[in-house]
Amino acid sequence: MGEKNKDLNTLCVHEGELPIDQYKTAVSPLYFSTAFDYQDQRRDQYPRYFNTPNQIGLNQKIAALDHCESGLVFASGMAAITSTLLGLLSAGDHMVIQNSIYGGTYNFVANHIGDFGIQYDFTDGLEAEDFAQKIKPNTKIIYIESPSNPLLEIVDFKAIVEAQYGVDVIIHSATKYMSGHSDILAGTVACSQQLRDRIAKRAKMLGGNLSDLTVWLLDRSIKTMGLRVDAQNKNAMIMATWLEAQPQVERVLYPGLTSHPDHALAQSQMCGFGGVVSFELSKKFSAVSFLNNLKLIKRASSFAGVESTALIPALTSHSLLTSDQRSALGISDQLIRFSVGIESAEDLQSDIAQAF
Ligand SMILES: *Cc1c(COP(=O)(O)O)cnc(C)c1O
Repeated sequence: MGEKNKDLNTLCVHEGELPIDQYKTAVSPLYFSTAFDYQDQRRDQYPRYFNTPNQIGLNQKIAALDHCESGLVFASGMAAITSTLLGLLSAGDHMVIQNSIYGGTYNFVANHIGDFGIQYDFTDGLEAEDFAQKIKPNTKIIYIESPSNPLLEIVDFKAIVEAQYGVDVIIHSATKYMSGHSDILAGTVACSQQLRDRIAKRAKMLGGNLSDLTVWLLDRSIKTMGLRVDAQNKNAMIMATWLEAQPQVERVLYPGLTSHPDHALAQSQMCGFGGVVSFELSKKFSAVSFLNNLKLIKRASSFAGVESTALIPALTSHSLLTSDQRSALGISDQLIRFSVGIESAEDLQSDIAQAF
């Protein structure tokens, strides 16, 4: 990432620092208050309005990191997603949404958003034409996600953006790499001031703000995000390459490998290939026993922490689908999603080798 990385790390550490008061602290103080002087300029200051001092500081950091005018921090990735969709869509509007999408988002759109009179279509695939095909005169939102989970397919942002549309809103589940220590649930939105105001208007009513204590903790976690993600990218590349050479492994899915079908696309639009590696164990081995045999790598359902974790999608994230539905998606019972942490790659390899 070179020069760009430097900028990113500086922003991660310093952007949104609060003005230091009489104590001259090196770290922004935590203002833990639900009540503020109403005669001040900001008469509507309140945590649920996303405008306490610590929220303002972190909102600014998120905006800077995503190169947007404005940012908002939420209590979860799902709060960020639902507040954004309900903030920008009204009854009679239509959205186009990628077919391979995070389960919670899929559920919200497929089973809830219709209750608000909002129409939607899932795409049939991930190509730009798949999105274009579903657009209607009343389409207001096109929702994309990349890489997909757990197969790590890459969506061609540039083709979709060029075919139409541009990107107006960037959403992150900050529970993942922004937090990075498997201890904070949060979400972020970055966009123009105008869209931010529309989203915030609805979000204030939905009440999905993050508590100021967690805002402060998340701000601290983000300070090391660049370093952590760099280390995880490197480790994941080493692990993916190593796994591909193991006879016990049927295939490895990692956008950084030349064997990945979207490798060239990933190379053109990602500055690192991420910390998640998915792989299929050979049919001779039981995926459940393999996971149970791991000692260093923990069985866990979330990902992106500094500690390595692994899960079997067929038994967790995709357990509600039938076996046929999973096969249609390409998710076999032998598939393992491995979130690579910052432990030494050698230790991770020894752990996997003994678990085989
Ligand atoms: C984790 C995740 C979410 C949900 O975020 P939470 O913080 O768990 O609410 C949504 N979308 C994607 C792509 C995710 O990875």
